[in-house]
Amino acid sequence: MSDEFRFADELGPAKVIHVHEPAIGLKAVLVVDNVAAGPAIGGVRMAPDVSTEECFRLARAMTFKNAAAGLAHGGGKVVLYGNPKMPVADKERLIRGLACALGDIRDYIFGPDMGTDETCMAWVKDEIGRAVGLPREFGGIPLDEIGATGWGVANAAEVALSYCNFPLAGARVVIQGYGAVGRHAARFLAQKGAVLVGASDSRGTLFDPAGIDLAVLDLLKADGKSVLDYPRGVKSGRDAVIDLECDIWIPAARPDVVHEDNVGRLKTRLVIQGANIPFTRAAEEYLHHHGVLCVPDFIANAGGVICAAVEYRGGIETAALDTIAEKVRRNTREVLVAATSRRLLPRDAALELAGARVRKAMSLRRWRAS
Ligand code: NAD
Repeated sequence: MSDEFRFADELGPAKVIHVHEPAIGLKAVLVVDNVAAGPAIGGVRMAPDVSTEECFRLARAMTFKNAAAGLAHGGGKVVLYGNPKMPVADKERLIRGLACALGDIRDYIFGPDMGTDETCMAWVKDEIGRAVGLPREFGGIPLDEIGATGWGVANAAEVALSYCNFPLAGARVVIQGYGAVGRHAARFLAQKGAVLVGASDSRGTLFDPAGIDLAVLDLLKADGKSVLDYPRGVKSGRDAVIDLECDIWIPAARPDVVHEDNVGRLKTRLVIQGANIPFTRAAEEYLHHHGVLCVPDFIANAGGVICAAVEYRGGIETAALDTIAEKVRRNTREVLVAATSRRLLPRDAALELAGARVRKAMSLRRWRAS
């Protein structure tokens, strides 16, 4: 098989498009993976070191995430080469150029990802009339402001607790990465009686077994400070968050932070994955064999893309939150029923669920595999 088709399998990708406009230094790749359920939604990731392979893997992850969430959308992704912190006028030119180059690819809907934000999506919308993750003024629902993903994570935790023998009230929570996802997950869980005892950011870890005051911590973070500036508790390096004893441990920072060499240090009873691929497969298998339930990323953190899908249809904030709760709860339950009854790794049960939904959608199309 020729090199262009090195990623091809029975699900996709449907299109791989390389964009190059030397006049403005534009280099990007679009992968539209699978559009059986509807036009692909997936973010534009801007970074100097992206690649076509990364784009394909992220697009496939979106196919599964959107299918698992039961959205009428397939998966896609764009990677845009460049430093996202470049001067804003240069960035605007690149994003507008990208939008124009891909404007005719109607089965891809632009969204934000690392290195792009709602302003970038407003530029895209202005050029081609098609984007999600927009500013409020454009009818957008600001998902990080309302805590869409954290809301989904908290709902996933509540459902998962029916498979654990402890209640949410009084449960000790630790968050790795007290950012947009992590802080809202902490807030929604605290509203149900859970207690945040540990939180980390890129600078370090805070531990306070008496319970951290979220209002105080949120004010510090909004001021650009670190969890280390919190007035009470024990402070340590950022890696120490893995060692904190708790009931619910929520990764909400970077990929691959827990792996086979450090997973044995976790002292928790439940893991809800807020970040994308925060654990390696070996780490998830270790937890599975040690009786620690782990709800996988694309089930627990689908709140953001569900919010985007509601926005795309002109829905409002309350509709987004209701839809997130309903979909994340149902999918978490479905995955955990399959995982526990058939002793599967929750990730395998989730992949099975998502794969079945993609194949079902594909079977209803004119061109189908069989
Ligand atoms: P964010 O930048 O708002 O927050 C990330 C937090 O992690 C920050 O507090 C940062 O200081 C901290 N951090 C970075 N490196 C760290 C490290 N090594 N150890 C501990 N903390 C570290 O980002 P976010 O939007 O909250 O996203 C967090 C993760 O969730 C990412 O993996 C993202 O891809 C994923 N995600 C986000 C959304 C969303 O709606 N924002 C949706 C799905 C998945």
